[in-house]
Amino acid sequence: MTNTDAQVLIVGSGPTGLALACDLARRGVQFRIVDKARTYFIGSKGKGLQPRSLEVMDDFGIAGQILANGKFHIPFRGYDGSKVLGEKDIHEGRYPTPNVPYASPLITPQWRVEEALRELLERHGGRVEFGTELTGIEQDEGSVTATLRSDDGEERVCCRYLAAADGGRSFVRKALQVPFEGETWKDERMYVGDVRLRGLDREAWHSWPNHPDGWLALCPLPSTDTFQLQAQAPPGFEPEPSLELFQQWVNERTGGMDIKLTDAPWLSLYRVNVRMAARYRIGRIFLAGDAAHVHSPAGGQGMNTGIQDAYNLGWKLQRVLTGAPDALLDTYEEERLPVAANVLGLSTKLYRQITADDEGAIRRDAVTLQLGITYREMSLSARRGCPVEPFFGRSRSGCAGIGCRRQTDSALRSFPRATFHFIAVIRQRQRSMGERPGWCEAS
Ligand SMILES: Cc1cc2nc3c(=O)[nH]c(=O)nc-3n(C[C@H](O)[C@H](O)[C@H](O)COP(=O)(O)OP(=O)(O)OC[C@H]3O[C@@H](n4cnc5c(N)ncnc54)[C@H](O)[C@@H]3O)c2cc1C
Repeated sequence: MTNTDAQVLIVGSGPTGLALACDLARRGVQFRIVDKARTYFIGSKGKGLQPRSLEVMDDFGIAGQILANGKFHIPFRGYDGSKVLGEKDIHEGRYPTPNVPYASPLITPQWRVEEALRELLERHGGRVEFGTELTGIEQDEGSVTATLRSDDGEERVCCRYLAAADGGRSFVRKALQVPFEGETWKDERMYVGDVRLRGLDREAWHSWPNHPDGWLALCPLPSTDTFQLQAQAPPGFEPEPSLELFQQWVNERTGGMDIKLTDAPWLSLYRVNVRMAARYRIGRIFLAGDAAHVHSPAGGQGMNTGIQDAYNLGWKLQRVLTGAPDALLDTYEEERLPVAANVLGLSTKLYRQITADDEGAIRRDAVTLQLGITYREMSLSARRGCPVEPFFGRSRSGCAGIGCRRQTDSALRSFPRATFHFIAVIRQRQRSMGERPGWCEAS
C-alpha cells in the first residue's frame, strides 16, 4: 500500500523525534512519527536540561511541567571512601534574569522530558506509532519513499521529507552511507542504571571520583524515588550490568558506607563513541540528534543538542512546505553541524577531566550551558562587512542580522511572501531565544 498523506516522516521517538513532532504539530504540518520500540523508554539516560533547551520547552508551553519534575542547583558532594571531602554547587550564583530566564541546568530524568513532549504531542492530536520500524528508504527529486514494518505487515509511505532521529546506530545514516567520523573509545565503558537504595540522602549528587578501579556517582533523580548510578569499569573488565555488580562497586568504592541498593528498574552498559555525521542533509532526508552526533555524556549535552537540532529544523520544514525556498533547509546543516563539532570537543575535554579527577571537570560556563550558541555568523544572519544601510537596523553603524538591504531585496524578488515570512520568524525566534539579532560592524 502507498500512503502519500505524510508531508514529513519522523523516524525515532527519543527527545529529538518528539521535539520535532511537537514543533511540526503546532505548525500544522502533516507528519507521522514511528519508533521500532514497542513502547517508550523508561531509563533516565540524559538527566540534565540545559537553559537553551528549557527555553525551547518554554516556547512549546511545557516549561511548567518540566520544571515541576526537576530541580536546579543540586550540589556535588565529593567523597574519598566514606569521608566527605566537601560539597559544591557548580552553578552557584547563577539565577534567572530578564535576559536569561533559565540560568543553570535542570536535573530531571530524560524519560520525564520525553513524557512531557509525548503528552504535548497527544494534546496536538498526534501520537507515536510504536512497534513500527523503518526498513528501507528511497528518494527522488520530489519525495522520499519509506518502507515501514510492523505487526500489521509492510507499508510504503511516500513523504516530502524524512527526519532521521533514529539514534546513534541510525539505520538511515547507514543506509545512505553517510560517514560517521570520529572514534570509539574501546576501553571506556560506563555502567549506568536507575536504582532504588537506602542509606543516602537525596540532597546532593554523591560522587566518589578517585577510587583506583574507577569513579562512581549517585545522583538523586527529582520526581522519582530513584538515583542514577554511574560507574566506570575497572580496566579490562566488562561484566553484564546487574544489581549485584552495582552493589559490589558501591561497597568497594564508598569505603563500606552503609548503602543498600534494593531495586534497579534500568541497567545498562555504555561504550563511549565520539563521532559526527559528515552531512546532515542528504537530499530530502535530514539527520538529527544522536543519529548525527554522539559523544560522552560528560557535561550533559546530548539530549539537549538533539532537541535543539529539532527546534532548528521544524520551522524550516514548515516554511519550505508552505513556499519558502528550498535553500532554507540547507541552513539546518550550516547552523547545526558546527554546534555538534563544538559539543564533541567540549564533552571529550570534560570526560578526560572527570577520569583524571581534574578540577576543570566541574567548571561550567556559557559554553557548557549552551547559552553561547548563536547563528550570527551564518548565512541567515550577519553579513560581515555589509556595505549598505541596515534593512531592519537599530544600530547606526551595523547591518542587520537578517541580511543587508541588498541581500534581502534580491531574495524578495524571487520569493516575496516566503522571504518576508521567514525574516519575521527569525526575528521572532531571536527575540524568544533572548538573542540580539546578530549585529555586525559595517566596513
Ligand atoms: C548514560 C547516559 C547518560 C546521558 N546523559 C546525558 C545528559 O546528562 N544530558 C544530555 O543531554 N544527554 C545525555 N545523554 C545522551 C542522551 O541520552 C541522548 O543524546 C539522547 O537520547 C538522544 O536522543 P535521540 O532522540 O537523538 O535518540 P534516541 O534517544 O536514541 O532515540 C532514537 C529512537 O529511534 C528509534 N529507532 C531506531 N532505529 C529505528 C528504526 N529503524 N525505525 C524506527 N525507530 C527506530 C529507537 O527505538 C529510539 O527510540 C546520556 C546518554 C546516556 C546513555
